[in-house]
Amino acid sequence: MRVKSLEISGFKSFARKSVFEFGAQVSSIVGPNGSGKSNVAEALRFVLGEQSLKSMRGKRTEDLIFNGSKTVERQNRAKVVITFDNRDRTFPVDFDEVSIAREIHRDASSEYFLNGSSVRLKDVVELLASVHIGASGHHIISQGEADRILNATPRDRRAMIEDALGLKVYHWKIAESEKKLIKTEQNMRESESLRREIAPHIKFLKKQVEKVEQARSLRDELMELYREYLKREEVYLSYTRTKLHTEKQELDVSLRDTSEALTKAESLRGHNVGQSPENTALLDARGELGNARRERDELGRKIGRLEGMIEMETRRLDRPVESADKMISARESEQLAQGLYEELGYAESSEDYLYIKGVVSRTRARVGQFLEHLRGGTSDVDTRREESKKEIEGLKDERDALIRTRGELENTITQLEVRVRELERVIESKRAETTDAERASFELRAKNQELTMKLALNHDRTEHFTREEVAFREEIREGGILVGRMIQEYPSFSLDEGAALLEDRMEQEGRRKKIERIKIRLEDIMGSSSGEDVMREYEDTVQRDEFLAKELEDLKASAESLRVLMRELEETLNEQFKDGITKINKQFSEFFGLMFGGGTASLQVSYEKKKKKSDTEILETPDEDEEESEEGIEVAVHLPHKKIRGLQMLSGGERALTSIALLFAVSQVNPPPFLVLDETDAALDEANSRKYGDMIENLAKYSQLIVITHNRETMSRANIIYGVTMGADAISKLLSIKFEEAAQMAK
Ligand code: ATP
Repeated sequence: MRVKSLEISGFKSFARKSVFEFGAQVSSIVGPNGSGKSNVAEALRFVLGEQSLKSMRGKRTEDLIFNGSKTVERQNRAKVVITFDNRDRTFPVDFDEVSIAREIHRDASSEYFLNGSSVRLKDVVELLASVHIGASGHHIISQGEADRILNATPRDRRAMIEDALGLKVYHWKIAESEKKLIKTEQNMRESESLRREIAPHIKFLKKQVEKVEQARSLRDELMELYREYLKREEVYLSYTRTKLHTEKQELDVSLRDTSEALTKAESLRGHNVGQSPENTALLDARGELGNARRERDELGRKIGRLEGMIEMETRRLDRPVESADKMISARESEQLAQGLYEELGYAESSEDYLYIKGVVSRTRARVGQFLEHLRGGTSDVDTRREESKKEIEGLKDERDALIRTRGELENTITQLEVRVRELERVIESKRAETTDAERASFELRAKNQELTMKLALNHDRTEHFTREEVAFREEIREGGILVGRMIQEYPSFSLDEGAALLEDRMEQEGRRKKIERIKIRLEDIMGSSSGEDVMREYEDTVQRDEFLAKELEDLKASAESLRVLMRELEETLNEQFKDGITKINKQFSEFFGLMFGGGTASLQVSYEKKKKKSDTEILETPDEDEEESEEGIEVAVHLPHKKIRGLQMLSGGERALTSIALLFAVSQVNPPPFLVLDETDAALDEANSRKYGDMIENLAKYSQLIVITHNRETMSRANIIYGVTMGADAISKLLSIKFEEAAQMAK
């Protein structure tokens, strides 16, 4: 790999585009003071990503852009392009040429390009780091900077040497590992804190989970109890349902039958025998019989009277008749007596005076009439006899007629008596019938009552049973909430149903109570929650904790491997550093001897004790002050024939020679791809210039060299010489020149 070309435009004094072709191993840039040679070295720093304006002799970005002159206008941008030959693939990219470009504007914006593509500064830095070229690296020695290494503190010197030895990469790696370690430790703390945070939650959840597990085993137990209880209950309910139903049906039928029989019996019983037609007929018949008997008796009396009258008439007829005797018929006498008897009878029961008086008056008149009739009538005895005979005949006829009537009446009476007896028998039999019906009715009513009671009992039991059925369904529902859908599996419980039905219900009640107790315990433990969410949360949290634990373990492992890596890197760094120092010292001594014609020079690792700052003032006590050692590099020189030991005692030239010897020694041990030396040889006398020239040639075997010089000797060692001039327009111009011209130019 080598630098092929450098293109500068608008950068500092290079207002116009100038291209340096650095194809040779040693290129030299010459020119008068102030012509812009150092600007070329700065252009190199610039394009390689230098961020320090100071190291490019600027205060602001604008200072890097051509600022104009009397004749030429200022530029608004500065651009530098460096092109490397990468055929040997030193840069790990698949291009024969690698060109890096940087462009800045007056607004301080900065752009980078890699083979024409816009990239970030980081990309450029990384690419260059891969070939050990740093922006402010040791490979560009600015004017007057050659003895910088001698002026630096031991610590900075060490840093510079490490950089030159290409050991910075270890520092980066260590720093990077440290950053990672810090980040890892931070992550560890975070993970630990998270674990600490969730630990009480896990503890709490674990308790909950234990409860859930307890609840699960209770639930299993409950399910077992339920299976038996529900199965038995179902068998019982099914049997009872059928039994009650059948019983009700039977009772209904019996009641209906009984009711019907009762209605019938009641209707029979309700028959009023006294009002029956038979009874009416009996009463009529009895009435008729009575009347007939009275009529017969009346007839008997009439017949008796008639016979009496016949007897009296007959006796009167048989008696000798006296003329003076008035012949008064029995009929007339009887009529009079009867009339008076009745009339006086009425008067006797009356209190009415006028009426009584009337009766007395009428009685007197009638008796008067009778007497008159009796006194006044005179008739022939024979006539009278005849009349009596006739009278007797008439009486007999009347009597016989009455006897016949009585005979008929006797028949009627006999018939009526037969009828009355018949009717009495019928009525009696009816009465007996009613009595039977009454007895039956009584019995039926009792039975009816009993059936109604049984039905009521059946109803009560059915109601109770319905409640039991509701309770059964409710039990299944409640159980379902506690044990889930498994509750529906209770019918699979195997049971001797016959035996189950014979069992005392108290046993089942005992089971129910047991179930109740478990239910209460379950509800106490779990409330209404199934616990699934608790389990899930517990599992999630434990998983999270395990994840964190695993992560912590991984982090610890990676922290440990980072520490190991850092230790290893430090060890490698130290080893390589010490190795580098040894090698540098060998070269340094040689170059030093060469430059000074003897003497020795070496780099020595020094340890500076430093007080460690304590974080707290209060706790700090002198005994506890800690010290840490800081490694640095001291430069020890022994000039030939002189007793000079310290660097500060060297002359300017001696200092320059010492730093060149050191610079070249370092470059020889770890040759950079290219080395820019800006007037490093400025302080050398002619003899030393030759030695310097020899060293340049020697160094050129390992690194490409770009030397800015006024030194003729140095110029003579270059393959290409560029002349930089500046005219009245204050613009640096570039010209490729021959050695003679260069020598001339340098004077
Ligand atoms: P010497 O041999 O004395 O070291 P040199 O050739 O190295 O000189 P430089 O230091 O490279 O010269 O150039 C300095 C010149 O560049 C000065 O003339 C300065 O005015 C000019 N210069 C620096 N910055 C700018 C800028 N931004 N615009 C224009 N010119 C600039």
